[in-house]
Amino acid sequence: MNGNIRVGNLFGIPFYVSPSWFLVLALVTWDYGGGLAAQFPGLSRGIPLLLGLVTALLLFASVVAHELGHSFVALRQGIDVKSIALFLFGGLASLEKESDTPAGAFWVAIAGPLVSLFIFGIATLVGATAHLTGPVGSIVGLLAYVNLTLGLFNLIPGLPLDGGNILKAIVWKITGNPYKGVTFASRVGQAFGWLAIVSGALPFFLSGNLGNINFWNVLIGTFLLQNAGRSAQFARVQEQFVGLTAADAIIPNGPVVSDQLSLRDFADQLILRRDNWRKYLVVNAEGILVGAIAVDALQNIPSEQWTTTLVGEVAQSIEASKTLDAEQPLLDVVKLIEETQGSTWPVIQNNGVLVGLLEKASILNLIQRQAQAAPA
Ligand SMILES: [Zn+2]
Repeated sequence: MNGNIRVGNLFGIPFYVSPSWFLVLALVTWDYGGGLAAQFPGLSRGIPLLLGLVTALLLFASVVAHELGHSFVALRQGIDVKSIALFLFGGLASLEKESDTPAGAFWVAIAGPLVSLFIFGIATLVGATAHLTGPVGSIVGLLAYVNLTLGLFNLIPGLPLDGGNILKAIVWKITGNPYKGVTFASRVGQAFGWLAIVSGALPFFLSGNLGNINFWNVLIGTFLLQNAGRSAQFARVQEQFVGLTAADAIIPNGPVVSDQLSLRDFADQLILRRDNWRKYLVVNAEGILVGAIAVDALQNIPSEQWTTTLVGEVAQSIEASKTLDAEQPLLDVVKLIEETQGSTWPVIQNNGVLVGLLEKASILNLIQRQAQAAPA
């Protein structure tokens, strides 16, 4: 993961922390330790810093517990958790895919805030029943406060926050369309973003004093606005892919050649076609994909052998993992292309018959044609 440091596994899930995390750890340790030293002058030297470090670690453990909440529910639905990462003041559990049902999405989303609110409850209960005082009492109090904040803030019902995902699941359930859910929850997220920005900047406009800006609100608002906008855009794109398969996005008149053709005829065809393909898919008489031939391969074969050598004899076989199933949903294809960085893909039916070649650009063309055919 870009720039993040791997620090082992949590219940089998790769765990990463951003380098900024160490800075925050040091700052919280220093700041809170200093606060404890001032509050409890009786503590001997070093103890406040140690308690500050424990506090900082507890705060981060709270964020991790929140992310584990999301992760465990996802794992129970058979969704793989790729990683948990800690960033500046927050965490992220990367799920392999979304839940298949609105109820599933609802539980994954609410699990994190529920864990936070649960820890808040426990810490409050322990603090009250054990009558904790002194430094331990204030650490437990802070733990309760942080988890309450973590739980409530994330329940704000706008994407990208957990509350937005809960709202998305509810709208999905009502409308039967997951993308309508995302679009709606993104709009609400944008509204909260503007609200936070306005509430942060309003004191400045009322007083004319720059020092009155609540930068924290403006920062959170900007974050919400950007990410909610991105979610909405992503949902619009995803919705365009509904019902499309790999077979829909093949290139018309793609680079395909028969295995029974001689290299001489192949070379002649290349001149006639005058397209810029560097590689051709090779099919047999039944239309089954048998491999691929690179145009450059001709250079390695003496031209006097071209009439006696068949394309099928020099074709290189293609691994099954480098081909696409014709029925595969196009959205899955896009994800696969992004993960593997493969640029061109033969699309075959399950009987091995080649349907055509798919390219990143041919997917874009298809989506553009669709958008023109059905103006939204
Ligand atoms: Zn969460």
